[in-house]
Amino acid sequence: MQEERLYSVRMRAAKGGPHEQGGKHISGGEMLSTYENMRQAVNHLLDKALTHSKGNPDFVQIQFDAIDEPIKQIDPLLIRKNEVESVEAGQALVRELLEQAGIKREVIDKAYKQLAEHSDMRGAILVDVHSGERIDDRREKGVRVSRMDWWNANFEQWANHFNEPSYSRVKEALVLATKVSAHPATIAELCWSDDPEYITGYVASKALGYQRISHLKEYGDEQGCRLFFVDGSNDMDDYIFFLEKQPVFIHWDEV
Ligand code: AMP
Repeated sequence: MQEERLYSVRMRAAKGGPHEQGGKHISGGEMLSTYENMRQAVNHLLDKALTHSKGNPDFVQIQFDAIDEPIKQIDPLLIRKNEVESVEAGQALVRELLEQAGIKREVIDKAYKQLAEHSDMRGAILVDVHSGERIDDRREKGVRVSRMDWWNANFEQWANHFNEPSYSRVKEALVLATKVSAHPATIAELCWSDDPEYITGYVASKALGYQRISHLKEYGDEQGCRLFFVDGSNDMDDYIFFLEKQPVFIHWDEV
């Protein structure tokens, strides 16, 4: 589908030094780009790093590397919008949806405990749906899903069709959720942002689609969440390889 060589472009920003020296995570981002559009991609990520409401970083790294593997093309998850009045109502809906995905209450409770223990994550926490235990060994780094994107022109067609604002925040969340849910070991994903000015989040899975929930935390709260509920009987090295390394394009076709 893609003739031109593509590059994975990644950014991470921290305050108080680099992440590996204890700096606080401010922001991260991942894109795919052609060589021709590299300046645009780097500028987009730099702008994201410099303007995050968690503060001004004193460490930013932006890097790109060529992709030589074939790129998988996937349809975006179907989007559903849930308006709730309060954090309590939003969190109750999260539990309902996770249970619909087949996850036991005790496992959900254990996963929330993991969240409370790791307050400055830069990637996702992987939780086994059988035991409720965390199964990655990445500590605060977590597993960062990368090598994925959605060309803007096609994303804008999709946004028009579904009456969505064509913000990059919407695109990036849907790209990530679609890639993660495409792997058969993923049972569901739960996410809300660490941006103190953004209180919306989602539960996603192949069967549930992308279930946006309007209110999952209070304004001003810098505690984000990204949990992948995983069937840990699969090979986890292969799974993490898919998340980090498999190049994926989201592409929508109007039917
Ligand atoms: P954000 O939605 O960008 O505000 O991110 C919320 C939380 O999700 C972050 O603090 C990270 O822990 C996690 N996160 C963000 N981007 C990724 C990614 N590409 N892969 C895995 N986890 C991520």
